[in-house]
Amino acid sequence: MASAVTMRDVLAARQRLAAHIRRTPLAESPSLTQRSGHPILLKCEHHQTTGSFKLRGATNAVLALGPDARARGVVAASTGNHGRALAQAARAAGTRAVVCMSALVPANKVEAIAALGAETRIVGRSQDDAQLEVDRLAAEDGLVDIPPFDRREVIAGQGTLGLEIIEEAPELEAVLVPLSGGGLIAGVALAVKTLSPQTRIVGVSMERGAAMIACLAAGRPVEVTELETLADSLGGGIGLANRHTFSMVRDLVDETITLSEREIAAGIVHAYGAEREVIEGAAAVGIGAILAGKFIPKGLTALVLSGRNIDMAVHAAIIAGTHVPAGETA
Ligand SMILES: *Cc1c(COP(=O)(O)O)cnc(C)c1O
Repeated sequence: MASAVTMRDVLAARQRLAAHIRRTPLAESPSLTQRSGHPILLKCEHHQTTGSFKLRGATNAVLALGPDARARGVVAASTGNHGRALAQAARAAGTRAVVCMSALVPANKVEAIAALGAETRIVGRSQDDAQLEVDRLAAEDGLVDIPPFDRREVIAGQGTLGLEIIEEAPELEAVLVPLSGGGLIAGVALAVKTLSPQTRIVGVSMERGAAMIACLAAGRPVEVTELETLADSLGGGIGLANRHTFSMVRDLVDETITLSEREIAAGIVHAYGAEREVIEGAAAVGIGAILAGKFIPKGLTALVLSGRNIDMAVHAAIIAGTHVPAGETA
């Protein structure tokens, strides 16, 4: 039985992260407040270093390693925001980082991770092949596998974001959090519910391939087919051997919502037009849920804008109205 992540872990994470993490703004959205009749706050975590909240968990995990592990280094298979975050975290700690990816990953993503100082290994043609290389490096070279969500220090690191929100807005009625593997929402829920038990925690995913929501329905971790989606940072499974996030999400999250591709795109458009903010699809689900009428605010509400690492050509097409949603044909 995996030992539970506690508020003590979140507070320890905050201390460790203080010199490494931006405290991002929690700013009211006049347009969403006017539309819903209740104050809507945006946690602008897309302005975090590396462009997403993943830096919190990755940095906490690297800094929590003992001297021997730190001297050996860290490894992960993520090509997205976690890969970037781990590269940055390792560089700040003076630790070796290896990011494994398949040959199908676009060159610009490989370059972005290499530019942060990580070694990149191109292996096989799938995420599973990349993970096999991670397992090999962990077994043979003693590198520590830092996964994107299912690790105590990662969850505790993401929890620092929840702590910032609830300290600045103690009267919060609800917080909407993008939901994939559940590291973000588990950490946020732990911090928020500890300080404000009555605040509702709402997880928002895409309709196309929402793994955690399928697992909650099944009552256990199950395989879910990954589909192309604008919320690409929310893709992927939770792991059949999930240790922490499944039970935390099941126990701490009050409600889940899923959005269509068009509803996610509407969130991106609103963030740009009304707030002058560039956010990626995964980060737009809270705004999208309000615009679609799938979440009706009943009081002070916070939305986590979790990242901004969207392909700018895709962003431009969404703003121009020429983007064809995944699953539809032009
Ligand atoms: C990883 C990620 C999420 C989801 O976080 P989980 O901990 O996997 O639930 C949401 N938004 C962005 C931008 C991400 O990179």
